[in-house]
Amino acid sequence: MSSPLLFVITGVSGGGKSTLISHIIKKYGFSFSISHTTRKPREGEIDGKDYHFIDENKFKEMIEKEHFIEWAKVYGNLYGTSKGEIKKLFDKGKNIILDLDIQGANNIKKIYPDSIAIFILTKNISVLKERLLKRGEKDLETRIMKIKQTLKEIDNYDYLLINDEIKTSYIKIDSIVEAESMKIKNLDLNKIIDSFWEK
Ligand code: 5GP
Repeated sequence: MSSPLLFVITGVSGGGKSTLISHIIKKYGFSFSISHTTRKPREGEIDGKDYHFIDENKFKEMIEKEHFIEWAKVYGNLYGTSKGEIKKLFDKGKNIILDLDIQGANNIKKIYPDSIAIFILTKNISVLKERLLKRGEKDLETRIMKIKQTLKEIDNYDYLLINDEIKTSYIKIDSIVEAESMKIKNLDLNKIIDSFWEK
């Protein structure tokens, strides 16, 4: 049996990460791992779809009970991937996609060395600043400082995708999914060979 692909996506805020994640889900049927967070929902976000929105007490209780496979503090809020969520998705046998910060991506890589970690960046800092301002981001300096630090630590990632023109980025991310799906270690070889001899 082949094991499902586990994609971990990290991106600078405003880098177009969500668009690319939606693309992979729609085109390749990946299941999205819904994280828990103490952040308040943004307009349009749905509890149980975008995140499981919980308060800090509940989050701390989950940490104590070791319910998280990984968790991190990002911009003052807590975020975590629950063991239950990952187990549920693995049990379905579907390919999985996680949206994590760099701490989460590094931790997942330790637990699942075969996970595929992709870092998404804009073409340059000007584009990024423009997108952040458009989004109404207030604390621009903190964001940029965090990005500066993060970029020094991306050695553990497998791919760096510069998201300039979205159509080109779709082609780039498709290439990653297609290539990873063809890797021998990711294939159900017995099934493929049986089917080869059938005709
Ligand atoms: P946002 O609040 O903009 O949705 O997410 C803020 C940051 O938290 C993003 O970098 C996102 O990738 C990260 N994040 C979301 N869920 C998780 C999680 O479960 N674990 C970790 N480590 N980071 C997460």
